[in-house]
Amino acid sequence: MRYIEPHAHMVSRVTDDYQAMMLAGCAAVCEPAFWAGFDRSSAAGFHDYFCQLTEHEPRRAARFGLPHFCWLCINPKESEDVGLAREVIALIPKFLERGNVLGIGEIGLNKNSRNEMAVLEMHVDLAARYNQLILVHTPHLEDKHKGTRLILDVLRADSRIQPERCLIDHVEEHTVKLVLDRGFWGGMTLYPETKCTAARAVDMIEQFSGERLWMNSACDWGVSVPLAIPHAALELRRRGHNAAAIDRLIYQNPIRFLNQCPKFKLPDESR
Ligand SMILES: [Zn+2]
Repeated sequence: MRYIEPHAHMVSRVTDDYQAMMLAGCAAVCEPAFWAGFDRSSAAGFHDYFCQLTEHEPRRAARFGLPHFCWLCINPKESEDVGLAREVIALIPKFLERGNVLGIGEIGLNKNSRNEMAVLEMHVDLAARYNQLILVHTPHLEDKHKGTRLILDVLRADSRIQPERCLIDHVEEHTVKLVLDRGFWGGMTLYPETKCTAARAVDMIEQFSGERLWMNSACDWGVSVPLAIPHAALELRRRGHNAAAIDRLIYQNPIRFLNQCPKFKLPDESR
């Protein structure tokens, strides 16, 4: 088995996780900027985090032979302070030149507030000005459907944004069709307790062909499973999907989306 982990918060994980991912066939890991579990108090905190994502974490991953890529933004959970968000967004352009940065993410909404919407629009403008891919976080539970609609409207309102260059993550049964019908990619986040189980993800794949879908573990500092993708692959196999179809979903699909950024290269491609 080979797979890409397109969304994992590795700064929260231990070295055993890197080792286990390599053993399971992981070929690359991508890390969106995320909430640390507590609010950072200044733009300087984000500056250090962006250094961690672009310098330290790729070095740590390389010790286990795993290529590490990242996405940058101020996450929706810290977007209530528009002044702070503006300062953080101003830091991002100089980091976009770094070799492992794939785009702007994970941006989006958390509580669907007016301030979050303003910061989302700033991020979309940043992505458009610098021709970056976009990775979107959609809200949880009761806010998800409305939040997803609001996000898609913001993206579609900007004529510079191409839907095929945006991935809308954490889709569920009631939002996946909305996302795919409008030409975007969808991500299914495999969590043991919330978001989506492997069985539900496979149901969605069977219903929607899986051509513009990927799966991720989003493993972070909370209850989450770094090997969620290989586990989902076993569920796919149990349900009769063949090896080629599984490879397409967990390896080729993420590569197809991520290859839209010229910096996404696997080691044997760049040799
Ligand atoms: Zn995440």
